[in-house]
Amino acid sequence: MTILLTTLNARYAHASLGLRYLLANMGELQEQTKIHEFVIGARSTDVVEKILAYRQPEQKFIVGFGVYIWNVVEITQIVAILKRVAPEVIIILGGPEVSHETGDQEIIRLADYVITGWGDISFANLCQQILRGPQPLMKIHAGLQPPMNDIRLPYQLYSDQDIRHRTLYVEASRGCPFKCEFCLSSLDKTAWPFDIDVFLAEMESLYQRGARLFKFVDRTFNLNIKTSLKIMQFFLDKLAAAPDDPVFAHFEVVPDHLPDALKEGIQKFPAGTLQFEIGIQSFNPEVQSLISRKQNNDKAAENIRWLCEHSHAHLHVDLIAGLPGETMQSFAAGFNKLVALGPHEIQFGILKRLRGTPVIRHTDAFGLVFDPQPPYTILANKDVPFADMQKLVRFARYWDMVANSGRFANTLPVILADAPFENFLAFSDWIYTSTDATHRIALDRLAGLVSKWLQEERGMEREAALALVSSDYAGDAKHKQSSSKPAAEKTTAKATPQRQSRHIAA
Ligand code: SF4
Repeated sequence: MTILLTTLNARYAHASLGLRYLLANMGELQEQTKIHEFVIGARSTDVVEKILAYRQPEQKFIVGFGVYIWNVVEITQIVAILKRVAPEVIIILGGPEVSHETGDQEIIRLADYVITGWGDISFANLCQQILRGPQPLMKIHAGLQPPMNDIRLPYQLYSDQDIRHRTLYVEASRGCPFKCEFCLSSLDKTAWPFDIDVFLAEMESLYQRGARLFKFVDRTFNLNIKTSLKIMQFFLDKLAAAPDDPVFAHFEVVPDHLPDALKEGIQKFPAGTLQFEIGIQSFNPEVQSLISRKQNNDKAAENIRWLCEHSHAHLHVDLIAGLPGETMQSFAAGFNKLVALGPHEIQFGILKRLRGTPVIRHTDAFGLVFDPQPPYTILANKDVPFADMQKLVRFARYWDMVANSGRFANTLPVILADAPFENFLAFSDWIYTSTDATHRIALDRLAGLVSKWLQEERGMEREAALALVSSDYAGDAKHKQSSSKPAAEKTTAKATPQRQSRHIAA
C-alpha cells in the first residue's frame, strides 16, 4: 500500500464523498490506495501513528489530505508532526480550504504538493508522476476539470457499514450558476450535470444494498426541472414499492423556482421522506444586490408558504447575519418575515469569509472584520458592532437549542409572540446574563431557565409557566421535527455543517 487518502470529518456520521471520488478515479493505482477517515477532535499524534501504520518498508508513501474549513487547523498540526517524525512521507493536499490564497498558508508551506480545485483525475495523475516519474516540478497544481462522463462515480465505495450507519452524500450535478459573493460556488459560474441515467443506476444499486437516507449536495436541485422530476420519481417509485421501508431524500433548493410540475411531485411525498434546505440568506433587496444574489423575494416567500401548507417536506431555511449592508433592524425584519412563513427550522448562520470568495471586496466600504482563525467568522462590520455581533452569535446558539431542537414547540410561540426577533433576542440576552454559558446547558436546566424567563420577564404566573414548559418537557408538544423526520436523519441533523460551509464540502 503506497497511497493513503485521509481527512478529518466533522462527525463520524459524515462519510467523505471527496475521498471516495479520488479512490474511484485512481485507475491502476487503485489497488494500492486506501481510505482512512478520522473525526475532528482526535489526538494529532494518534492520527499520525495510525497513518504511518500503512507505510511499507522501502516504498514511497503518499498521504493525500482533504482539507476543509472545519479541519484545517487540526490537519495543519497533523502534517507538521508527520513531517517531523517521517519527513520522507509525501504529502498532497486538496480541498476547498487549500484551493485559494495558497501563498499564505502554513499547511501549504509544510506539504509537498497541493491540488487546487477539482482533484478527481489530477490526484491520480500526480501520484503517477511521483511514483513513476518524471518527478513533478511544481508544488501547486491546478486541478483539471474533466468532462463529467470521464469521472468514475464513487458510490460503490460506500461500505455496508457506511450504508447502515452514516449519511450517504450523493450529487447529480456540480457547480452553481448563481453568484452569491459569500459562497465558493459563486466562482463556478455554471452547473455541470452527471449523466442522469448513470447516476440513477448508482442510486438503485445503493438502494438495493439497503441505503435509505440520501443527502444530495447539489447546490441547486431545482435548476433543471426535467432532471429534478426524474430524481424525485426515482424516490417516489421506491416509496410506492416499499411504503413500510421508506427512503428519505434531502435536497438544497433555490426558493423562487418551484414550477407546478415540481410542486405536483413534491406533494406526493409522505411525511418523513423529504427534506429541503432553502437558502434565503437575506430578504433585504439592497443586501442581495450588494452580494450579487438574485432572488425574487415575493416568489420565494410564496413558495415557502406553499411548501409549509401543501406538502409534507421538512423545511430548513437559511439566513445569514453579518452580510454587508445588513443592519440589526433589516436582519430582524427578514427574520420575522421568515418566522411568519412557518418553516420547521431556521438555520441562523453568521457570515464567514471563505477563502476565495469575492465578498471581501466590500471590506473597506462596509468595515468587514473577520476572525483570522478558521472558520473566519465575521466579528463586526460598520452596521453591526462587535458587541451586537456577539449577541447574534449567542442568538443563533440558543435558537438551535430552543427552537430548532423542536423541544419547546408549545412554549416557543409564547416566547416569540408578535415580535419574534426582538423577543428571542431579549430571551437570549437574559439567558446569557443568567448562565454565562452558550454550550453544555442540560435540558433540565434549560427548561427551568425558560420557565423562569416567562415569569420574570413576561410576568406569567408561576403555575402557568411551569405547565407550559412541562407540556413540552413531558413530550406533549407536537414535536415539529419528530413529525416529519426519519430517525436516521434526526441523529445527524445537528451534525450538518451550515450551508455556507457545506457548499465547499463536496
Ligand atoms: S449560495 Fe447557493 S445559489 Fe448562491 S452561489 Fe452559493 S450555491 Fe449558488
